[in-house]
Amino acid sequence: MWRIGHGFDAHRLTEGRKLILGGVEIPFSLGLLGHSDADVLVHAVCDAVLGAIGAGDIGRHFPDSDPAYKGISSLKLLDEVMALVLERGYALANLDATIIAQRPRLSPFIGQMVVNLSHVCRTDVGRVNVKATTTEQLGFEGRGEGISAQAVVLLTSIEIDAELPF
Ligand code: MG
Repeated sequence: MWRIGHGFDAHRLTEGRKLILGGVEIPFSLGLLGHSDADVLVHAVCDAVLGAIGAGDIGRHFPDSDPAYKGISSLKLLDEVMALVLERGYALANLDATIIAQRPRLSPFIGQMVVNLSHVCRTDVGRVNVKATTTEQLGFEGRGEGISAQAVVLLTSIEIDAELPF
């Protein structure tokens, strides 16, 4: 059995916040605004995974009205989401994600994001891909007002996964 899921998220850039993407703190003058650490990439991945198992979305599982999640590392939320996946007998086949940001330049940090995501997803780095793109100054990302991210994930039931060649 295979299950596919898609996730999208966007957060506003603001002063006085750290910029955390894929669990990596990126040196920049602005950071993303949110109740948690506002890691937009990890939020999109959480929504993709929750979508794949038909379990709603991140807001339903981790409401931003709950003080327990204030300032929390979003990797911890993804860890809980992946625990649900395993509970249901699934494993991650592969994950592909795109960060949409005009600034800063993200390529030096992509490798560590992949390591962080693969670790929390209980898989190896060969099954996780992260890309970054600008929008040629178009839209809110292009004007530097915010950063968005999209993710697609494929899950397999654990019996099928054991037979996969990759
Ligand atoms: Mg979010």
